[in-house]
Amino acid sequence: MVILGLGSNVGDRLMYLRQALKCLQQHADIKVCQVSPVYESDAMLPPNAPNSWHLPFFNAAVACTTTLLPYAMLKALQEIELQLGRDQQHQHWGPRTIDFDILYWPGVAINSETLTIPHKGLYERPFALWPLIDVYSDWDYPRDILHEWNSRFTGNAPFGTRQVTYRIDDSIVGEE
Ligand code: ADP
Ligand code: MG
Repeated sequence: MVILGLGSNVGDRLMYLRQALKCLQQHADIKVCQVSPVYESDAMLPPNAPNSWHLPFFNAAVACTTTLLPYAMLKALQEIELQLGRDQQHQHWGPRTIDFDILYWPGVAINSETLTIPHKGLYERPFALWPLIDVYSDWDYPRDILHEWNSRFTGNAPFGTRQVTYRIDDSIVGEE
């Protein structure tokens, strides 16, 4: 299973995550198999980030199969990001309507300027690792980190990450 991370911290975040999921589901070369619960977290920001960047994220992960190779997948995801209004001149870690990350790809280890798989920072980011494990429980992940992060529901983990009750694979529950 290829695991993709989805994030949004601008506008109607759930709507953007749901649209992004729909685009994946409609993509001819991607088959979505499982969708994680949604997590909310504080934005991860560079030092001296402007106040306007302090916008909380919703994140989720999706397990899928694909006939695409990793760089073609990255391109497909970037096309969806643009389609969903992501600013083309976006700044690293800046606010975004939608962010796609390739978190994990079985048997693939890439470390290039444009693509790192597994995604770097996975072990510092509960908002990426928790949903990844939700859809890929067989993965051999470092359990001591999870132990440190404690509960998924209290918001005591790094970035205040916690699981919330919204889902993006049904459209019944609205935001707030
Ligand atoms: P982040 O996802 O770390 O918050 P950005 O979304 O601002 O940062 O960075 C986007 C860039 O990250 C893309 O242009 C892409 O080339 C690069 N990148 C490197 N590895 C990955 C990956 N595994 N998944 C998605 N993008 C990646
Ligand atoms: Mg990204």
